[in-house]
Amino acid sequence: METAKERTVTPEQIEGPYWLPGSPERQRLVEDGIVGAPLTLTGRVFKQDLTPVEGAWVDFWQCDGVGVYDFEGYRLRGHQYTDADGRYRLETIVPVEYTDRLEFAGRQFDVHRTAHLHVKVKMPRRQTLTTQLYFPGAPHNDKDQIFNAACILELSSDGRTAQFDFVLPW
Ligand code: FE
Repeated sequence: METAKERTVTPEQIEGPYWLPGSPERQRLVEDGIVGAPLTLTGRVFKQDLTPVEGAWVDFWQCDGVGVYDFEGYRLRGHQYTDADGRYRLETIVPVEYTDRLEFAGRQFDVHRTAHLHVKVKMPRRQTLTTQLYFPGAPHNDKDQIFNAACILELSSDGRTAQFDFVLPW
């Protein structure tokens, strides 16, 4: 389905403190013991002229269903490459909102984040787009200063499947 969203270049969003290089190549992030409601996210990667990008590197990272990121290993982290039609597919769980304790200029402060998935997308020979994806109707979207409505997923009525197309600024 083509939507207005597909015609808009996907906005850049901050990387945040939790990205790790070297995630495993995999489409399925769900493992034994992971807390959270299952979610399958699919979509495509396009250039700005809406031609699909084959072989784009798409790297996801996120917290689990209780707001925890993994730093010991690569739980809920993974990258993949788009197919000839620019398609990716991610099997994961629904992240939840969480509070970050950040330090800036020697001061600590709390930032409450609405539920989001982090992602980096890179087509060959271009820079990396770093962004975040959000859930429609999540209670704290409006209170999160990083939130961008142009990065909202399309979510099925049962909440188990989601769709998002990336349009790169190239
Ligand atoms: Fe985050």
